[in-house]
Amino acid sequence: MQFQSLNIIEPILKALQEEGYTTPTPIQAQSIPIVLEGNDLLGCAQTGTGKTAAFAIPILQRLANNKTFNKKRKIRSLIVTPTRELAIQIDESFKAYGRHTGLTSMVIFGGVNQNPQVAKLNAGVDILIATPGRLLDLMNQGYVSLREVEIFVLDEADRMLDMGFIHDVKKLLAVLPKKRQSLFFSATMPPEIIKLANTILDNPLEVSV
Ligand code: AMP
Repeated sequence: MQFQSLNIIEPILKALQEEGYTTPTPIQAQSIPIVLEGNDLLGCAQTGTGKTAAFAIPILQRLANNKTFNKKRKIRSLIVTPTRELAIQIDESFKAYGRHTGLTSMVIFGGVNQNPQVAKLNAGVDILIATPGRLLDLMNQGYVSLREVEIFVLDEADRMLDMGFIHDVKKLLAVLPKKRQSLFFSATMPPEIIKLANTILDNPLEVSV
């Protein structure tokens, strides 16, 4: 199978070619059509399976196909992930696959001065990748509004719980728009993860690799 047969738009196909990607990985082949259709997704997949592109490609495509509504560059997609390293990698992926779409992304994480992050946020961005603590911190200071989020991703949900981020995630869910598309990824699916997924997802389709 080729990316073309997944109906990926030309600007993204071109970027994938430049990255040297020819064939979607199994998680990509299964997830991309589900997300492009606007469905919620419950994905059981580990890092290394191509999981990042499985959500980044269809998110970029959905936002690119509906761009006129974001002249002010409100945050339209939020990706929450447990660690700074993962956040940086995800941002690099969005930038690589989205380089011909005109969409912008940025990353925020704790442990560094917030001012450069605040300056970038003020300039406006389409896609925000964040670790939970810094995200809540900047939200509480009024620097981040999630009111316009169309697509929300919770990445590595099991690690998020292990690291004690459950309360932060619940606070985020309380301010996200009720009408949104949500994608939930976890390497393992113990009962408490399924429970959390059920509070986030609406009629999700399941993918497992
Ligand atoms: P991930 O599981 O998202 O961390 O991705 C693992 C690695 O696989 C990353 O270095 C990606 O750049 C690479 N990758 C993802 N999808 C593809 C693909 N379809 N073809 C080739 N490499 C890929």
